[in-house]
Amino acid sequence: MIVTVEKSQLEKLFNLIKKEYEIVAPVLREGVIGLSAVNSLNQLPFGYTEVEEKNFYRVEKSNDKYMFSYIRASFPYKRFLIPPEFTFLKVKRENGKLAFEELTIEKKYAFFDVRGCDLRGIEVLDNVFLKKNQHPDSYYEKVRKNLFIVSVTCRKPSDVCFCYSMGVCPKPKRGFDILITELDDVLLLETGTEKGEKFVKKLDYRDAREEEIEESKKIEKNCIKSLKRSLNTEGFPEILYRNIESNIWNEIGKRCFACTSCTQVCPTCFCFDIVEKNNVNEGLSERVRIYDSCFNPDFATVHRFNIRESIASRYRQWYMHKFAYWVDQFGEFGCVGCGRCITWCPASIDVTEEEKKIRKL
Ligand code: SF4
Ligand code: SF4
Repeated sequence: MIVTVEKSQLEKLFNLIKKEYEIVAPVLREGVIGLSAVNSLNQLPFGYTEVEEKNFYRVEKSNDKYMFSYIRASFPYKRFLIPPEFTFLKVKRENGKLAFEELTIEKKYAFFDVRGCDLRGIEVLDNVFLKKNQHPDSYYEKVRKNLFIVSVTCRKPSDVCFCYSMGVCPKPKRGFDILITELDDVLLLETGTEKGEKFVKKLDYRDAREEEIEESKKIEKNCIKSLKRSLNTEGFPEILYRNIESNIWNEIGKRCFACTSCTQVCPTCFCFDIVEKNNVNEGLSERVRIYDSCFNPDFATVHRFNIRESIASRYRQWYMHKFAYWVDQFGEFGCVGCGRCITWCPASIDVTEEEKKIRKL
């Protein structure tokens, strides 16, 4: 269903969802728009916006009248689907025997305000962990099954966004339970599932008018027109394979600090390690999944031998995975064009600039 509601209805929608889910949404904290569990709609950073460029980030008051004036959080929702640190098994010695306890993520989350890039990021993770995985990940499956998604159409992009060239639309077409498009005076609500419809039907709504649907399309068109960056994907995997031995990787390797920042903020980077935490005094052992990164020095160590010692080889692995290997593995790119890695790279390395250089080799 596609309906129109007054903007004041947003709070009612939020509160209805809150009754059934733990809501995670963008919040402004310590000068950065991040994500957090929230109790009130007022905690969202309405009236603020981000200024982003290579190695630059600032939040400032927005000069427009819209609620969804900000763009997207500085890190993606993946940390709630695959937490940075997650204990999934506990083994305890009790009365001379070992007791095993398996843990899962029991939370029932509602992500409130997922933009197109992050929605597509979730779809990419679904393919990695479930749909295109011969051994579906039961932990991911559980939290994903309980998830409710409210998506929001972007009115404007940040200067680092290049979503459209990665096939992502500022007005999402699928993957949401409810999609909100903020028009000048009202909200256009589109439902993608019965669960979404159930909530929307409890609001004071009316059928959307043709001109309101047209306005929402115009918002998307203007957003696409305002994008300042792009990445040409045409034949790019083949170009990358041809240039796998190029000196360009050494040049980037000299600039890259291997800080792992890009992999932490990327909505699709999913690598994790499994470590044992032992507490001998308490007879307790915990098996924990923690984020890893292909930039970490030990990431590619196999039987003492590190097959990617140089930073250049690690950067090449990351870039080739996003734009070539991922296509072979999953039939899609591992990048959704959110631009976060451009903003948060302390070495000002920009994946879109590197694409243009690689094409000229
Ligand atoms: S590319 Fe940038 S963000 Fe990524 S590891 Fe290198 S220095 Fe860090
Ligand atoms: S590679 Fe960079 S632009 Fe692409 S999805 Fe990851 S963080 Fe976003």
